[in-house]
Amino acid sequence: METLTHYIDGRRQASTSERFGDVFNPATGQVSAQVPMGTSAELDAAVAAAAKAFPEWSTQPALRRARCMFRLKQLLEEHAEELAALLSSEHGKVLEDARGEVTRGIEVVEFACGAPQLLKGEYSDSVGTGVDSYNLRQPLGVVAGITPFNFPAMVPLWMVPMALVCGNTFVLKPSEKDPSSSMMLADLVTRAGVPAGVFNVVHGDREVVDAILAHPDIQAVSFVGSTPIAKKISETGTANGKRVQALGGAKNHLVVMPDAPLDAVADALIGSAYGSAGERCMAISVAVAVGNDTADALVAKLKPRAEALKIEPGDVPGAEMGPLITGEHRAKVSSYVDLGVEEGAELVVDGRQFRHPDQPEGFYFGGTLFDHVTPAMRIYQEEIFGPVLVVVRVGSFDEAVDLINAHAFGNGVSIFTREGDAARTFVQRIQAGMVGVNVPIPVPVAFHSFGGWKQSLFGDHHIYGPEGIRFYTRLKTVTQRWHRGAREGADFYFPKLG
Ligand code: NAD
Repeated sequence: METLTHYIDGRRQASTSERFGDVFNPATGQVSAQVPMGTSAELDAAVAAAAKAFPEWSTQPALRRARCMFRLKQLLEEHAEELAALLSSEHGKVLEDARGEVTRGIEVVEFACGAPQLLKGEYSDSVGTGVDSYNLRQPLGVVAGITPFNFPAMVPLWMVPMALVCGNTFVLKPSEKDPSSSMMLADLVTRAGVPAGVFNVVHGDREVVDAILAHPDIQAVSFVGSTPIAKKISETGTANGKRVQALGGAKNHLVVMPDAPLDAVADALIGSAYGSAGERCMAISVAVAVGNDTADALVAKLKPRAEALKIEPGDVPGAEMGPLITGEHRAKVSSYVDLGVEEGAELVVDGRQFRHPDQPEGFYFGGTLFDHVTPAMRIYQEEIFGPVLVVVRVGSFDEAVDLINAHAFGNGVSIFTREGDAARTFVQRIQAGMVGVNVPIPVPVAFHSFGGWKQSLFGDHHIYGPEGIRFYTRLKTVTQRWHRGAREGADFYFPKLG
């Protein structure tokens, strides 16, 4: 069985840690690899390598860094199938979904290829007599990324190309649950011509994360994961003087207006609630039906679809949904379904007993549907992160908007309607960072930026796109005058240009 190494200073390095964790193949339930729980000394070594690489990397023309990104894009495309298979085998998501994840990650590399244009400053000629002014965007230094299990390739790719192309050097702490794709990424980054030390991977858990937050040479931290950890990263990181963007959990609502085409809505809900077994931060987990007639008709369409989901190992052709990430997570999802029943919601489809006939040890969970869920219930308030869709019934459009705006999370949200006025009002009034109109998973493309509101994001910057450039650089403004030799004497008053 493979024991993973770290990736420090341009090469794989075995860990000296005494703690290792199991990596599972969720489809079979078998342990597939061991991952080291890195030490703070190993994190120090990675930061030292990144700090050593920074002066040369950061002062290269942006065009040269962009050329590395062009090569990385090509290498990722050449290895896309291998990468998709690897992450599917550790995460459990079906192969076609894994391919989509890789594609969306590559799109960020494509965006990063535009660095020379994206990093352009502004110039003002003659802000005073013989005085010109201009802006520079300069890299921060060594930056770190801490990533979740649910997108083991895409989320690192939200960060790494953006940070690198801006001239930073990087230490990645991937999820310990599916860490192998980050090693493949490290190999490809090196093959793309990125010098040793610019990109490093240190595996581990809380010990490495705490060491990142405390390290004086790390200038900024990008985090994606659950809300309690995002909050802790934001608070500790900023208290230690770092720039932080910490993306957290979600409870994404989809409003179904009475005029919406219900077959299309049901298809959209099934795909977005149960795709990737609901383990997506942009999964729809709440359907808000406007009017009881809408709700009755919708539930009647959802029930047979949820019961008919093709739940298979990720590499089975035609599989729609794979297993959950671990047995522990399956138990947690199951306990939420127990809770929903106790709280009085109507359990329409129950996935708790589902076991795959050929893989009884796999971490499978059946598609689950609740109706008559109310805002007071914990299954409505909390993120379950599994294939559980809840239906909340409201009397009007305004009630739907108020319900969503009162929720603690504000990641993604969507409305399905044929009425332009309702959609437009929804977009204006809704308190969430990413909004879909007749689109169930409104994940912004690489040249926009991704981020939620409220408890779904801590920090001022969304991730990737133009916001990624802003996060990974700081502004310097230069005011310059070239003397012609004449002395003007000391000036004791605040300079008045112009
Ligand atoms: P998680 O918060 O458990 O782990 C995320 C990272 O934090 C991992 O690298 C993990 O090792 C580390 N970590 C875990 N516990 C820690 C602790 N106590 N101290 C320090 N570090 C710790 O999240 P997860 O289960 O891997 O991923 C699922 C969560 O991520 C969901 O809540 C999902 O909504 C969220 N997510 C959000 C987005 C987004 O863009 N907002 C995207 C993907 C996932």
